[in-house]
Amino acid sequence: MATEVQTAPTKDATVVKPRIGISSCLLGAAVRWDGGHKRDRFLTDVLATWVEWVDVCPEMGIGLGAPRETVHLLGRADAPRLVGTKSGADHTDAMESFSRAKVDELAALDLAGYVLKSDSPSCGMERVRVYNQKGMAERRGVGAFAKVLLERFPLLPIEEEGRLHDSVLRESFLDRVFAYQRLLEFRRGTLAPRAIVDFHRVHKYQLMAHSPKHYSELGRMVALAGTADRRELVERYSRLFMEALGAHATPKRHFNVLQHLAGYFKDELDADGKRELAQAFDDYRKRLVPLVVPIALVRHHVRALDVGYLRDQTYLAPSPKELTLRNYT
Ligand code: SF4
Repeated sequence: MATEVQTAPTKDATVVKPRIGISSCLLGAAVRWDGGHKRDRFLTDVLATWVEWVDVCPEMGIGLGAPRETVHLLGRADAPRLVGTKSGADHTDAMESFSRAKVDELAALDLAGYVLKSDSPSCGMERVRVYNQKGMAERRGVGAFAKVLLERFPLLPIEEEGRLHDSVLRESFLDRVFAYQRLLEFRRGTLAPRAIVDFHRVHKYQLMAHSPKHYSELGRMVALAGTADRRELVERYSRLFMEALGAHATPKRHFNVLQHLAGYFKDELDADGKRELAQAFDDYRKRLVPLVVPIALVRHHVRALDVGYLRDQTYLAPSPKELTLRNYT
């Protein structure tokens, strides 16, 4: 369960544990067709400390048991059937009903993300093999359960475990998960104009690192918080907010953001302090050090000089530091 509910974002991204859906076999449950599992060590040994898992095995969910006959996608890539590879038993309708009921159940749990098992005809998010009647396969399908999940939660950060082995994709996914968690808490709050303005304010530099264009557009929405229909405004804001964070935060944009941040306290530093800061920024620009180096220095100055406006910027602490975010950016 989420441990605490707040109406405004916090400066500490570790306060609330996001609840994340996951394919059961990735947690080590013996639910695969062969009675085995696909435990993923990063998920079970690292990420598990910071999130609450909600596991789902769709094939067990429709009563196939383990071990069981393997299934695959058969037919047209855009509307394949889910069938047993030997028996030809058609599980499409059962999976469809299970999936619709399950996503309704999940909707009530306020998930902040989902990790799916790659290549699975039920859980795979993309490039799943779809076979034709001659037994030839094309990697153009989406797993039967994943398809319903993706349709139902278009804003939810969803990734496959294989892609999370790429450090950049992993960082992007986790940044979005913790941002989505803050968005959920914000949406549970009063939605008073002040709360909307505050939510936008604390995400200013995180948004700017991803997409200055989205940041400006979101700002124009927030300016209407006192007069517009606030529920409708927050709906539109949420969609654009998650779209913004889906944009790639380039090193150039990070560099620009760092310079903006330094503008808040640079004049208060002595010559050595200024030199050290400029050096860290330049090293990052040349890709000699990861983003975490200049960020750590900025955080130190924000704390030491008590720079109020920056203290709760999510850019400086988007997620628990133990997850090594920004070590690869
Ligand atoms: S990939 Fe999905 S359906 Fe297959 S065993 Fe894992 S959780 Fe179950």
